[in-house]
Amino acid sequence: MATLAPVDPAISEPDPAALIAARPHLRMDARDGLLLDGVPLAAIARDLGTPTWVYSAPTLLARYRQLRDAMAETGLDAHIHYAVKANDHRAVLSLLAREGAGADVVSGGELRRARAAGIAAAQIVFSGVGKSEDEMRLALAENIAQLNVESAEELAMLSALATAMGRTARIALRVNPDIDAGTHAKISTGRARDKFGIPYAEAAALYAHAARLPGIVPVGVATHIGSQILSLAPFRAAYQRIAALVGDLRAAGQSVAVVDCGGGLGIPYRDEIAPSPAGLAAVIRNAFAALDVSVKLEPGRWLVGPAGLLLARVVLQKQTGAARFVVLDAAMNDLIRPAMYEAWHGIVPLSPVALHAPCTEADIVGPVCETGDTFARGRMLPDLPPGALVALLDAGAYGAVMSSTYNARPLAAEAMVGGNSYAVIRPRQPIEALWGEEILPPWLDAPRA
Ligand SMILES: *Cc1c(COP(=O)(O)O)cnc(C)c1O
Repeated sequence: MATLAPVDPAISEPDPAALIAARPHLRMDARDGLLLDGVPLAAIARDLGTPTWVYSAPTLLARYRQLRDAMAETGLDAHIHYAVKANDHRAVLSLLAREGAGADVVSGGELRRARAAGIAAAQIVFSGVGKSEDEMRLALAENIAQLNVESAEELAMLSALATAMGRTARIALRVNPDIDAGTHAKISTGRARDKFGIPYAEAAALYAHAARLPGIVPVGVATHIGSQILSLAPFRAAYQRIAALVGDLRAAGQSVAVVDCGGGLGIPYRDEIAPSPAGLAAVIRNAFAALDVSVKLEPGRWLVGPAGLLLARVVLQKQTGAARFVVLDAAMNDLIRPAMYEAWHGIVPLSPVALHAPCTEADIVGPVCETGDTFARGRMLPDLPPGALVALLDAGAYGAVMSSTYNARPLAAEAMVGGNSYAVIRPRQPIEALWGEEILPPWLDAPRA
């Protein structure tokens, strides 16, 4: 079991200049302000308004290629299945599909999205603890690469459906290796107490059972121990257990062709030291190179997180006693990670002047009627007068996908940067769309007498 010490909030935080310096895709231009891969963000905010998500195609591609190349260097037959839930915009999916990436989906909706973005069914893996019958039927009809099965109950359902449809389900058993990934409790998935996967001790028997079931072909084992993992130790421990299981299964006469290593590789939001793709690849090679298996990886956050940010405008600064509040026009309905996981996101002004202005402590909040609508507390930031623009960094993963319209706030616009310009990839939701699909009961809809 490996755990990480929590980040000590008393340790000094990186200031905006340090945050920019640590991110090669960001640069502060003396005239145009903050640039994302060469494109001025202030111009995007001016054109599209705020809040607006901006993703960088070159950064996303560079990260994909870095991970793909690291896996290729292991000499293993390795496949990357992007975890669609991190950012399911078709522009993101299509970009990765063109590079040859497959997809890891966790719902029928994600499966259809991945297909709509041009990802071949043969490159799609379906994970998740509660696939419905309709979702299983869709997966079988599409003949996707693999379903990762999380329980005996699910296996029985799938066998019945596959038999009825005259199809065969290639399955991997998602095994819970009982490893504490040392990450936030809400994104830990590989401890015995978490809802995910099949208990390690039961996996071999269930695999043998699966091999006897009609409509089922077990092809391998899968694991996914959590998200935002900042140490290689839990990966190493989990993969060693999985490798041992593969040995046990084969000793018992089972065939195992695939090991699905899951996702979870973390990124530095603040100033954490995150493992490199090469480091993770080496751990995978050490665990599986001798086994003659093909390996799958399901990265989400690592690929898209740093490639995106959220642009927001300061509504006002409010001084109450000793506290300074900077109220943004973005809120928890746009980016819920700080409220949900106490996540830390870098916040930097877009103005080159502000970058060098003296800083004081401020709480950065949104306008939603919840105390939890707080992006950051006690952050050292310059004076940010009404209208000032800021970027919330590393918001490409688990950002827009988790948005809601709480407080009747329409979904923010989305843009993608590439080739020295940007494209709108989703206009701001029109306010009327918020109630456009609502229907009044007939007895309310009648004109009043
Ligand atoms: C969420 C998830 C992933 C991706 O996790 P990241 O931390 O974004 O890399 C991969 N596999 C499964 C099964 C998941 O649920």
